[in-house]
Amino acid sequence: MIDLNNPVIRGYLIRLVGEEGLEMIRKMPEGEVTDEQIAQATGILLNIVRRTLFILNENKLAACRRERDSSSGWLTYLWTLDMSDVEPQLVKEKKRLVKNLRARLAFEEENVFYNCPEGCTRLKFKEATDCEFLCPLCGEDMMFEDNQIVTGIIRKRLAQFEKE
Ligand SMILES: [Zn+2]
Repeated sequence: MIDLNNPVIRGYLIRLVGEEGLEMIRKMPEGEVTDEQIAQATGILLNIVRRTLFILNENKLAACRRERDSSSGWLTYLWTLDMSDVEPQLVKEKKRLVKNLRARLAFEEENVFYNCPEGCTRLKFKEATDCEFLCPLCGEDMMFEDNQIVTGIIRKRLAQFEKE
């Protein structure tokens, strides 16, 4: 079983299914259960249970088996959680985040930025010269931005990822 207190796993699952979805996963009964049984056992509203199961299924973290009742002919959907795919998915997500951060860092390092002091917009040097360093929205003088703070934050986040 995965560690739901692990902040990386928690964060990933909350982004995927929200706080209530995580609560459902935490209280999920063992074995095969119907959505109504899950709602009863967890105290989570049925529509949230269904939404959570759907998202988990899409992400291969929950499996569903259909069973037809021989006398009534009704279909029952039986659910089980399978969290074994969480770790490989986390690795994939981490790769994606690192790639995005590297691209963002390169963009920040390759460009010089000018900001409107009123906070309207941020322009690259070329765009700012095209506007003669006047904000295209409010007409204020654009100010040179020292983006060391931004690049510093990105570098710190990248370093954190590399440590994990
Ligand atoms: Zn402005």
